[in-house]
Amino acid sequence: MSKCNNCSASIFVDYEIHDGESTRRDCAKCGRTLSHPTWYGVDQGEPAEQMASELQIRQIEIRHADAARFEASQMKKRIAAAKAARRDEVDAE
Ligand SMILES: [Zn+2]
Repeated sequence: MSKCNNCSASIFVDYEIHDGESTRRDCAKCGRTLSHPTWYGVDQGEPAEQMASELQIRQIEIRHADAARFEASQMKKRIAAAKAARRDEVDAE
């Protein structure tokens, strides 16, 4: 079974590319591309045994959405902190 050489996860998701002529297999965890099981209609002989199930894909999507929400909230905090720091500077003058 193949593993992602970036994060060693062994579940992958296939995406259609080239208008469905090719498929790109990405690590389901970190998103790194592992291979192209189909390349312009030619089957590359990649086993599909490690494909992520629908449930795993949904869990990963939820994790990514949570991470994005967390990033956004951290960004808001940083902006608020930067604004507060600027206000402090103005008050000190
Ligand atoms: Zn990975």
